[in-house]
Amino acid sequence: MSKDLPAAPDSTKSKYWRKPLDADKVKIPHGELHIITDRCKGCMFCVEYCPRGVLEMSEDFNAKGYHYPIAENDPACVNCRLCEMLCPEFAIFCLKAEEEGSS
Ligand code: SF4
Ligand code: SF4
Repeated sequence: MSKDLPAAPDSTKSKYWRKPLDADKVKIPHGELHIITDRCKGCMFCVEYCPRGVLEMSEDFNAKGYHYPIAENDPACVNCRLCEMLCPEFAIFCLKAEEEGSS
């Protein structure tokens, strides 16, 4: 059950869509996801609302008997932390990933 990332709007189809002038200067952040599986109650909020389609539910069960999320598309995470804000059980959080080459 893999999810495709949402497609970017087609700039040729909307007269209102434009590329930001500084788009080439913006660096997209990357997040390092942490899931405390045994806290999860399987509500799927994080899976449903992640804007990048990073998460999906595991087929395994946690200690409470619920399916829990796994990061199937981890490189796509942009550290927006929406999953962290939505989780009612504080079972998932995201930290800024270390930049390559930084100490
Ligand atoms: S931090 Fe944002 S992009 Fe990353 S898994 Fe959570 S909701 Fe998705
Ligand atoms: S939002 Fe929290 S409790 Fe719900 S599925 Fe995700 S990790 Fe589990």
